[in-house]
Amino acid sequence: MKILFADKFPVTKQNMLSQHECHNQFDLSADELPTVISNYEILVVRSTKVTAQTLDAAKKLQLIIRAGAGTNTIDKAYAAEKGIAVCNTPGKNATAVAELAMGLILALDRRIPSATADLKQGIWNKKTYSVADGIYGKSIGIVGFGAIGQKLAERAKAFGLDLHIYDCNSDFNGSDLQKQLGFTIHADMSDLFKSVDIISLHVPLNEETRGMINAQIIAVMRDNAMLINTSRGEIIDETALLDGLNNKGLRAGLDVFCNEPGSSSGTFDSEIAKHANVIGTHHIGASTHQAQLAVAEGVIDIIDSFIAGSLIHRVN
Ligand code: NAD
Repeated sequence: MKILFADKFPVTKQNMLSQHECHNQFDLSADELPTVISNYEILVVRSTKVTAQTLDAAKKLQLIIRAGAGTNTIDKAYAAEKGIAVCNTPGKNATAVAELAMGLILALDRRIPSATADLKQGIWNKKTYSVADGIYGKSIGIVGFGAIGQKLAERAKAFGLDLHIYDCNSDFNGSDLQKQLGFTIHADMSDLFKSVDIISLHVPLNEETRGMINAQIIAVMRDNAMLINTSRGEIIDETALLDGLNNKGLRAGLDVFCNEPGSSSGTFDSEIAKHANVIGTHHIGASTHQAQLAVAEGVIDIIDSFIAGSLIHRVN
C-alpha cells in the first residue's frame, strides 16, 4: 500500500509498516493536499483538513485515518459517497487531554500563568496571589462522558471534587462506573450548569453541538464559575462567553478557539484569549509524547485491520 502521512507521525513507529511504501510530508496544508494525493491508497492526518477537493483528486484513496479522536476536519459524508473509509483512534489521547483539563482548572484557581509572568518581571506581589479559593469539595460538571470525560472524572475525584455528568447519548445510571466514581447524572444540560462550580466540555463538534454553550446556558452558570474547553472552539458561542466573563465574573481555561490558525504556526488574534479571566493553550491537549505514541499504535492497528479485511473504528 502507498501511504501518505500529511502530519507529524512518530517515525520510529513507521518501522512497523515496512511492508508498505510510506511517504512523509508532515507540513502539507489542506490546499496542497489535492496536488499530491492522487497515487496514495491510505492517507494519515492529524489536523490537516481533508476537503472535497482532496477527495476529488484522490483517484486511488481507500482509507483516511485521523490520528486522533475528532473527525470534524474531514469531509466524512463525501468520503463515504466515494467509497473511502474514514477511521479514527478513539481514546488513545484521552489521558493527555484529561491531564490538560485538570491543569487548566488548577492554573485558573491559583492564577499560575499571571503569577509566573510577574515573577519573570521581577515582581514579588505575594498578596495578589494569596486569594485562591481551592478546589477541594467543589463540584465539576462534565459535558460528554466518553473517553476523555471519564479520564477527567477519575482525576477530579482524586482532587476531592464532587462529580456531575451530562451525556445525551449514553446511560450511565447504575453502571459499574457510576458505582466506582459516584457521579450524579443530569438529564438536562442547563440543570447541570446551574449545579456546579466548574464545567468541562468533552463532546465532539457536530451540527448538534456547534454553539451549544450559548447565552442561555451561560446565563444559568454560577457567578465566578470556571468553564474549561479542550474539545473544539466552535462548541462555545464566544460572544456569549465574553459577556459571561465581563458580567458574571466567569473564568475560562481554553485549549481550543473558534478562529484557530489551520497550521501549527502563525499569528492569532482573539479577544477571548486576551481576556484577563482567561488562560489558554495552543490546542495542545493531545500533544504529549505518550499520547502520540499511543495514537501511532492505533493508526497501525487500523492499517493492519484494513489489510486483513476487518476495518476497525470506521466513522463514516
Ligand atoms: P468520545 O466519543 O469518547 O466521547 C464523546 C462523548 O460525548 C460521548 O460519550 C457522546 O455520547 C457524548 N456526546 C456527543 N454529543 C453530545 C451532546 N450533544 N450532548 C452531550 N453529550 C454528547 O470522544 P473523546 O475521545 O472523549 O473526545 C471528545 C472530543 O474531544 C473530541 O471529539 C475532540 O473534539 C476533542 N479532543 C480534543 C483534543 C485536544 O487536543 N484538545 C484531543 C482529543 C480530542
